[in-house]
Amino acid sequence: MLIANWKSNGSKAMAKNWFNKFFEKYNFKNEETFIGIAPPFVYIEQINILKKSNINTGLQDIEPFSGARTGAISADMALDLECCFSIIGHSERRELYKESNNQIKEKIINLDNKIIPILCVGETEKENIAGKTKQVIQNQLEIIKDYELHDLFTVAYEPVWAIGSGKTPHAEEINEIHKFIKDVVQSISTNDLVPDVLYGGSVTHKNASSFFNQDFVDGALIGGASLDGSIFAEIVNIYNGTKNK
Ligand code: PEP
Repeated sequence: MLIANWKSNGSKAMAKNWFNKFFEKYNFKNEETFIGIAPPFVYIEQINILKKSNINTGLQDIEPFSGARTGAISADMALDLECCFSIIGHSERRELYKESNNQIKEKIINLDNKIIPILCVGETEKENIAGKTKQVIQNQLEIIKDYELHDLFTVAYEPVWAIGSGKTPHAEEINEIHKFIKDVVQSISTNDLVPDVLYGGSVTHKNASSFFNQDFVDGALIGGASLDGSIFAEIVNIYNGTKNK
């Protein structure tokens, strides 16, 4: 699974140009790979027209309920626009909008299997230096304790200090954390789910293969490098060459 998180970037013109560049570079041989684009909500309809085959659209954040929720995009609206996944608990939501673990939990447990949740977890630089990475992640994952998870529930391991910084953990460290995440989710969910775990944080076409070569890395959540259709296609091709040979 490869997810492009456009954040609050883009325009109608950018979306059109993005797909031209993507399809120029994308190798259509491995259509089973789940490719997801999470643009700003206002561009989803346009992207639904431009996209093909195994490309899916999704949200960067979601509100499970419709009604008195000013400014929010509800799960029913997402379904209406054929979105099938949503990023939840991105560190920018946690930091800039003060979203708590409890709010993130409410989103996940109230989605009722309608939308695939991609839950972001990860430690800050300070927590990393203090050796608290696993403790922080365990705490962030506790919100799904005793719940039956969507079969495709996915976790994105995104160290906060790696996002947009050009810095990343070593591939072997990422692999170890992904194994830890799979074990924790399996042990605390009622359906013993072993989730796919994506890595996110400064992934580019230059470093992607080092991550995809790791056994427990099931894909990537990509911010900055996903804004260029050609570079994102290159990352998808690298993934297909490594995981879906
Ligand atoms: C992100 O914000 O989810 C992310 C992975 O960003 P970047 O790829 O730019 O580090």
